[in-house]
Amino acid sequence: MLCTNCRQHYADGLMRCPSCGQPAPASWDILTTVYPPQDDIIKSWLESCGIPVILRSREGIGRVQGLSIGPLAEVRVMVPRDRLSEARELLAARDAQPPDEDQSRE
Ligand SMILES: [Zn+2]
Repeated sequence: MLCTNCRQHYADGLMRCPSCGQPAPASWDILTTVYPPQDDIIKSWLESCGIPVILRSREGIGRVQGLSIGPLAEVRVMVPRDRLSEARELLAARDAQPPDEDQSRE
């Protein structure tokens, strides 16, 4: 999680920033559902644009090494509700780029 105030990274799921006390965004919406490594790529892309991101795996089991494709590897990319439209635009802008490392997509 990225603090919206001091931009400190802290553990997902905390209610407020341990550094400055800024409350974590109250409501999160699912931006998209992807498979690794797309989750990390999207997370770093959005965070570099200043949008906090939470990644939630389907079963809450976190990343399982060696299980890269399949229903259990599905990851929900969540952003604060008030940043959802902005995040969608950023994601669309990124998807409009020519494919580079993302060769598996059709
Ligand atoms: Zn903070």
